[in-house]
Amino acid sequence: MRINVKELIAKGKPVHLQESMDLSGLLGGRQDLLSFGELKADLSARADGEVAVVEGTLTLHVTMECSRCLGPAEERLTVPFRESFTMEPASADSGGEQDELHQITEDFAELTPYVEEAVWMALPFVPLCKEDCKGLCPECGTNRNERECGCSTERIDPRLAGLADLFKDTTEDP
Ligand SMILES: [Zn+2]
Ligand SMILES: [Zn+2]
Repeated sequence: MRINVKELIAKGKPVHLQESMDLSGLLGGRQDLLSFGELKADLSARADGEVAVVEGTLTLHVTMECSRCLGPAEERLTVPFRESFTMEPASADSGGEQDELHQITEDFAELTPYVEEAVWMALPFVPLCKEDCKGLCPECGTNRNERECGCSTERIDPRLAGLADLFKDTTEDP
């Protein structure tokens, strides 16, 4: 997926990009991804002086492994996208503020790596099948969304037990 920056800036006319992308190369190796659909990119590119600004939304349907119960966690990711490109050589005083401006040496800006990066960053770090997933019982492995196993779930990490006592003392003693 790419845009012709030279033409965009010369004509000053916004361009709409609607494309589907196969992300197998990027996501195929992810163990936590059970399946994923095609990426849909809905972007527009416009010229802002000598800069081409590409922005819009990327959407992707993914099924990940729930981090609590290991069941399927389906999610429709909506990823905002915005990147700027210019063919102008970097000027010395443009520093800091323009760190998001990508310098290109050809007429075209290749969007794919930026799209892939945006998707990669948007994948949930701790996917959940549902907000209140009860997860697997650490004692017997039962999926507690399906049934109660009756194991004591009051166990507290021994490193935190002292801290819990401390809170108990302060709350019981007004
Ligand atoms: Zn779950
Ligand atoms: Zn249990």
